[in-house]
Amino acid sequence: MDDRTYTADAEPGDEVTVAGWVHEIRDLGGIAFLILRDTTGRIQVKFEKDAMDDELVETGLGASRESVVAVTGRVEEEPRAPTGVEVVPESVEVLARADTELPLDPSGKVEAELSTRLDNRTLDLRREEGQAVFEVRAEILRAVREAFRTAGATEINTPKIVATGTEGGTELFPITYFGREAFMNQSPQLFKQLIAGSNIERVFEIGPIFRAEEHNTPRHLNEATSIDFEGAFCDDHDAMDVCEQVVVAAYEAVAAHCEDQLGALELAEGFSVPETPFPRLTYDEAIERINATGELDEQLVWGDDLPTEGEKALGADVGGHYFITDWPAEIKPFYIMDHDDDPEVSTGFDLMHPRMELVSGGQREHRRDRLVEGFEQQGLDPDAFAYYTEMFRYGMPPHAGWGLGAERLVMTMLDLENIREAVLFPRDRQRLSP
Ligand code: ATP
Ligand code: MG
Repeated sequence: MDDRTYTADAEPGDEVTVAGWVHEIRDLGGIAFLILRDTTGRIQVKFEKDAMDDELVETGLGASRESVVAVTGRVEEEPRAPTGVEVVPESVEVLARADTELPLDPSGKVEAELSTRLDNRTLDLRREEGQAVFEVRAEILRAVREAFRTAGATEINTPKIVATGTEGGTELFPITYFGREAFMNQSPQLFKQLIAGSNIERVFEIGPIFRAEEHNTPRHLNEATSIDFEGAFCDDHDAMDVCEQVVVAAYEAVAAHCEDQLGALELAEGFSVPETPFPRLTYDEAIERINATGELDEQLVWGDDLPTEGEKALGADVGGHYFITDWPAEIKPFYIMDHDDDPEVSTGFDLMHPRMELVSGGQREHRRDRLVEGFEQQGLDPDAFAYYTEMFRYGMPPHAGWGLGAERLVMTMLDLENIREAVLFPRDRQRLSP
């Protein structure tokens, strides 16, 4: 049905129909230009008022900005045109007229507030930069899937409506499920473990997670996309290896395939694929280095979670992606395995970008007795999780995995200020629509 020519494919000498939005009309008097924009770029349409049919000229130049038009005509070489070619129209059809007052300027000349942009995403993503973010996001997800396949993992989809949360507690959104209380899932954690224990062994999932976090920060959403991995017979270091491969694959794919998008975002110059291997700092080393920066008012002591300013100070000190390993068991969830020779220390790890946390992972406790003990220690009722713990009776292999926030990956890669820029329709404390 779509037999038009993309503006990027229009070659001199072609008879084409191009279709898209009226980006701009430049009226120079006897001659006027309509700049037509489609998903591939823009093309100039030339109107010579005296030499052309009046109705044609009126229709073309009368179309308001952002109206959708189809133009049929001949492509000619024109060195003065932005793309070196222009269309000499034979017919112009207005397919959808746009109101003359627009809530934001899709040419980007007038900057709009983020909330205005999010309220008007359709218009907002007519801007090159907006489109570029989501083209890059798609490329990242494509590359991530491919990297997982290379690593021998199978894509799975687990339920988002659940009877119990992953870690219990306050971050759950309750819903009503046929008269019973249910929740939106915080993480595919328990389900992916159950499948890593099946003969599928290595799994990954890319799907939504829901967190009823009260805070409103530039790096938290209430609905985010989690890129998850879980592998049987993996330990924490194997899981970190896969994590590093996946993150690097995403950067490499964007470097190789998103030149135009990086250009639109003014990142083409400085864009680089992170160097491997990522340093692996123990938690002990991390707090020592943070304390040594002198950036914190109070020195951190063993057992503290890392405050945001601490993460930033360490990030600036390290200067690239890095792992923090061997976290205190107490501040990691019950399903993370502790070291046998020192149960105060866990196999939990985080992957950090200098700006923020990207990933949490670890080796999992696969020994049922200890797992159940862990539930009790964290004040959770193991019976509520019987669907999970029961499977540990029937041969659960050692396994490890992690979860990576897709929006944080996009945000840090593209140096976006606010995570909401990396989601089409973000969910946060204020925003439930669109
Ligand atoms: P943070 O401490 O930054 O709030 P977290 O430790 O609570 O994150 P995890 O439960 O470890 O988050 O989830 C794994 C990853 O999922 C995080 O490292 C992050 O990339 C992403 N993630 C978690 N919660 C959110 C959220 N609310 N919004 C966006 N991404 C999130
Ligand atoms: Mg975490």
